[in-house]
Amino acid sequence: STPAVMLSAMAAAARGGVLFKSSAALDALARVKTVAFDKTGTLTQARMTVARVVADDELGVLALAAGLERHSEHPIAQAVVTAARARSAAPIPVRNAQAIPGMGIEAEVDSGERGSVERVWAGNLRLMEREGARLTPVQDTALRELNAAGSSTVIVGRGQRVVAVMGVSDTLRPGIADAIAGLRKAGVAHQVMLTGDRAEVARAVAHETGLSEYRAELLPEDKLRIMSELPGPLAMVGDGVNDAPALARADLGIAVASGTDVAIESADVVLMKNDLGKLAGAVRLARDARRTVF
Ligand code: ADP
Ligand code: MG
Repeated sequence: STPAVMLSAMAAAARGGVLFKSSAALDALARVKTVAFDKTGTLTQARMTVARVVADDELGVLALAAGLERHSEHPIAQAVVTAARARSAAPIPVRNAQAIPGMGIEAEVDSGERGSVERVWAGNLRLMEREGARLTPVQDTALRELNAAGSSTVIVGRGQRVVAVMGVSDTLRPGIADAIAGLRKAGVAHQVMLTGDRAEVARAVAHETGLSEYRAELLPEDKLRIMSELPGPLAMVGDGVNDAPALARADLGIAVASGTDVAIESADVVLMKNDLGKLAGAVRLARDARRTVF
């Protein structure tokens, strides 16, 4: 049975908003050497907004993008749907919408006469390449400028034609730099960001949060591979649908409660108040409890 000291540490942590699902999770946190963070929705608030639309037909593109993104759970998708609504661009109905983890979303629309069907998609450069599409020089310049300024980007396409490049901005979670500094002070030596986003965006976020290490442009399976190469025991902090496999694979999965249900279910620890600042205290609690038991 669980030693009383661990039960009381778990109760104390829970009062602070850190929910351990088991005493094994408390024990694991005490031993963690590396913490890996997802970026979007974990280091950032994932309250994203569409800041720029580079397209010939902005409203038409927003209607198409919203038609796609209303089928996605990604934080970027929410931003696109909201931007379309704000400009009264009614989402275009799409069929067979399919999320492609680490890339975006694709679907089909009816086009022209005689029931011909066109593929439509919204996502990153990797998805664009997969669709066999290319950026025009103007779109390429826009994409580079947005990424260099730290904005994430969404590319929208119809078949092999790119119809828009959108800049999506996010804000850091309040207090995230302090949370990371606190973890370092608590003796968690190694901290790294793992993200599917572009390197320029990752670099900007790493700089602002005080993380010395980041790996960018990762597919979900890349995240899993890198996790197995990092010095363990390893804790993974994440929020999203795409993070569930990583949360399950880590020695300790930590979910922020604002995330999706599947992430919360896959995790061993849940940060109920979305406050990563509570992690350092939880590490100390866990270590004290472990020291008392062993
Ligand atoms: P992260 O949370 O680190 O951004 P994800 O694996 O969730 O990692 O996503 C990786 C990248 O895939 C995103 O940065 C984005 O470029 C793209 N992406 C994923 N889903 C969508 C979507 N629904 N719409 C647009 N882009 C998407
Ligand atoms: Mg995320």
